[in-house]
Amino acid sequence: MAHAVRIHDYGGPEALSWDVVEVGDPGPGEARIRQTAIGLNYIDVYHRTGLYKLADLPAIIGMEGAGVVEALGDGVSDLKIGDRVAYAGVLGGYAVERLIPADRLVKIPNTIDDTTAASIMLQGMTVRYLLRETYPCTAETVLLFHAAAGGVGLIACQWAKAMGATMIGTVGSDEKAQLAKENGCRHVINYQTEEFVERVRQITGGEGCNVVYDSIGKDTFPASLDCLKPKGMWVSFGNASGPVPPFDMDLLSLKGSLFATRPSLMTYTARRADLLSNAGELFDMVAKGAIKIPVSCTYALKDVGQAHRDLEARKTTGSIVLLP
Ligand code: NDP
Repeated sequence: MAHAVRIHDYGGPEALSWDVVEVGDPGPGEARIRQTAIGLNYIDVYHRTGLYKLADLPAIIGMEGAGVVEALGDGVSDLKIGDRVAYAGVLGGYAVERLIPADRLVKIPNTIDDTTAASIMLQGMTVRYLLRETYPCTAETVLLFHAAAGGVGLIACQWAKAMGATMIGTVGSDEKAQLAKENGCRHVINYQTEEFVERVRQITGGEGCNVVYDSIGKDTFPASLDCLKPKGMWVSFGNASGPVPPFDMDLLSLKGSLFATRPSLMTYTARRADLLSNAGELFDMVAKGAIKIPVSCTYALKDVGQAHRDLEARKTTGSIVLLP
């Protein structure tokens, strides 16, 4: 038995319940890990509210963590007890101990501590696939990235800078603007006080961007489309303000023969080989100092309700880690 945070029904932060649950022994292909740090991500809010429906309730939410292997089921050959491991995208993270399919675990290099690992796996691999695969950015790329001072955003600032790309970031306050700049974002727009479409047009000399990475959803639609060059790509990868409403595909034609995609980290890391190469590239970026992870907020796991309140109130910057 061990402590975990479950939801018994969808709802506000008060739905997060500090429970004692049975953990059990790992079955074939599984590992049991004792977690040392747990990553908090916006998808946890979607799971809590029911925007993304879960298969069963009650459920332990949380999609990311780091810890130590405590026990292994039959058929797991590439891990041993005591290994430091991390994962992203496997439900059940808000727990002191958990079972997990061993093929979803990645060994943490010695150069990276557990708190850092728990804060980069999901957000860092997301930035990697967005900038390297969904729209492969180069030094010639001009990209707009919303919420540039958030968990995903601050990593994007640094990764885009390392690629030599020109990143325009939007943020909700002047303090966040400063932070995004310090992390390498070339141009920053405070979209609470400035018209971001107009500012993007000014910054790009009227041309627009090659790609817009939009995790805000409802509030930035369809304005994000107006920030693109003809044949540009709109990458809609989140719903912090609510989902994008259904729209007529003709809109993409009218706005300049645009491309649109709605990607998910789960697809980009579904095969083990992709998971390992994605994580490996991320760890390399951290090891060589190109990406420095500012874990701006830590909370005790049992105080996760407050962490959700702060995240939804846009009070946080950078990654958030829960300590069991
Ligand atoms: P963040 O730390 O970026 O927090 C969300 C930020 O969104 C806020 O800080 C705020 O920044 C901005 N925001 C704008 N409007 C709202 C609103 N109405 N309510 C709340 N926040 C708002 O979170 P994460 O780094 O965890 O995730 C960022 C986004 O990326 C999320 O939408 C998430 O779902 C998405 N994501 C998608 C993945 C995928 O594979 N598809 C994987 C990982 C994350 P500001 O005040 O500056 O506007």
